[in-house]
Amino acid sequence: SFALSSNSTRRKIFLKILLILSKYAFYITDKDTKMTQENTNQTAGPERLDFIRQIVADDCKTGKWDGRVLTRFPPEPNGYLHIGHAKSICLNFGIAAEFGGRCNLRFDDTNPCKEEQEYVDSIIHDVRWLGWEFGEKTLFGSDYFEQMYLWAVDLIQKGKAYVCDLTAEETRQYRGTLTQPGKDSPFRNRSVEENLDLFSRMRAGEFGDGTRTLKAKIDMAHPNINMRDPVMYRILHAAHHRTGDDWCIYPMYDWAHGLEDSIEGITHSICTLEFENHRPLYDWFLDALGIYHPQQIEFARLNLTYTVMSKRKLLRLVQDKFVRGWDDPRMPTLGGLRRRGYSPEAIRSFCKIISVNKFNSTVDFALLEHCLREDLNRTSPRVMAVLRPLKVVLTNYPDDQVEWMEAVNNPEDPAAGTRNVPFSKVLYIEQDDFMEEPPKKFFRLAPGREVRLRYAYFIRCDEVIKDADGNIVELRCTYDPATRGGDAPDGRKVKATLHWVADAHALDAEVRLYDHLFTKEDPEAVEEGKDFTDHLNTDSLQTLTGCKIEPSLKDTAPLDRCQFERMGYFCTDPDSTANKLVFNRTATLKDTWAKIQKKEKSS
Ligand code: ATP
Ligand code: MG
Repeated sequence: SFALSSNSTRRKIFLKILLILSKYAFYITDKDTKMTQENTNQTAGPERLDFIRQIVADDCKTGKWDGRVLTRFPPEPNGYLHIGHAKSICLNFGIAAEFGGRCNLRFDDTNPCKEEQEYVDSIIHDVRWLGWEFGEKTLFGSDYFEQMYLWAVDLIQKGKAYVCDLTAEETRQYRGTLTQPGKDSPFRNRSVEENLDLFSRMRAGEFGDGTRTLKAKIDMAHPNINMRDPVMYRILHAAHHRTGDDWCIYPMYDWAHGLEDSIEGITHSICTLEFENHRPLYDWFLDALGIYHPQQIEFARLNLTYTVMSKRKLLRLVQDKFVRGWDDPRMPTLGGLRRRGYSPEAIRSFCKIISVNKFNSTVDFALLEHCLREDLNRTSPRVMAVLRPLKVVLTNYPDDQVEWMEAVNNPEDPAAGTRNVPFSKVLYIEQDDFMEEPPKKFFRLAPGREVRLRYAYFIRCDEVIKDADGNIVELRCTYDPATRGGDAPDGRKVKATLHWVADAHALDAEVRLYDHLFTKEDPEAVEEGKDFTDHLNTDSLQTLTGCKIEPSLKDTAPLDRCQFERMGYFCTDPDSTANKLVFNRTATLKDTWAKIQKKEKSS
């Protein structure tokens, strides 16, 4: 049955899934790696720590960092944060909170070209919205430019860095390949004096972009390509969003990153797997300088089905207007999820459930939605809204009468109380809740049949009114005054309970229904002659107008969340005004995750 009475079965299914969830730490669709219990260490119960927390706990026990725990979240301010970043944020801030430490929010702003204040502001906002607090102030890698420069000079003096005049293309050629060693740059053996002179003139702006670099002098035959004399500084005459024109040489990420951690005294420098191969280089830099050395720990980044996560691709979606902006409710950005109606609690709980490990995999979007429903079910006030209205006229109801029916705000939360909703002669129900010729399993309204209107009366359909084209435009029904409150004194039963909105006091609204942005589970999978945008779902947004909403939502504010009974979870869109209400569907009520679980079990 699609009617309200199925709520309790739904709840039972939820509980069952919860049980399943608490038993298995991973329900991740296999992609790169087969997930088994052996290669995770989060399977034995709630008190088992993930492998990173285990390291931190051990370090606290042995006093490795004098009991200090200082983590950091280091975004590059070149885009908006997405759900993948949330995984990293919850990990770093979570560990700090759980072990009595701190977590720095530090902007890795070493690339002047793609970075902007707009991104800095949005990132700060998003981290706070997710519920995390960071130290007294936010930190910026660019604040350490002078110190980084001095350390570069130190490496030159130690004979461990040199100025190189090879072009970018030549540098690539000299580097060799995975199977072939590189060869030494002809500038590799410049004297310390010459290097110091050239480097200071690089800084002074004497040379053009790309004409020289500062490189670390390591080993051009090293099996790890990252160790083959990597570039530390490049010349770039570009204004930086914070340091303006102070610099025309900028540190490369690999040079800057470890130094930033060292300067701040980070204890556990947690990053994603692709930096595992860079760790020997960070180690080399810190050891060569003889400065404070944090411990780097790598974990697998989050991938989600039906979406893309790279900032470059997200930017493309925005710039090419495939979506309305960074906060389009279909975007996996935190801004998009927020506008869609996601709560910070739901996202935090998702991050907790997926945990962390060392194997790349893809998480089913349905799991994120499952976490969302868990939270919204507890917290969302219920209201009645009819998205595709079918007019119902109660022929035996007094013309101008309006009754106010008491409705429960949230059956999951008795403290949420009740509200009154108006009932009148003219009402709206969902078009889908009526069928002129109902098939066997359709229990809702049909000619001659009686149903319950939630919080109100039984009604019976007597007549179907059609327009000239044969479309059903109105139902004539009668109500039974004795059934007020929802039960018949004579004990007769009905098989369905429908939501409805009375014409009296109804609010008109636009409702936006969303589907996955992509039609493919993995839109990034490389396909001959295809681009990820070829897999965009052309039906990912459906806009309904003329929807009818009960008047209690009259003063709704942007981002308010609610459940439209039987229709799903919704939130008020920031486009909403007093004259034109706009709602976004956050999620339907159907938990597809439960279906997936069932299928997997039976297969
Ligand atoms: P992109 O490669 O798309 O530009 P990024 O990972 O380089 O993104 P950053 O701003 O450098 O973006 O990310 C900040 C932090 O968030 C990094 O520590 C990074 O490891 C982490 N992070 C980014 N994406 C994910 C993800 N999908 N899952 C987990 N952590 C992530
Ligand atoms: Mg990055």
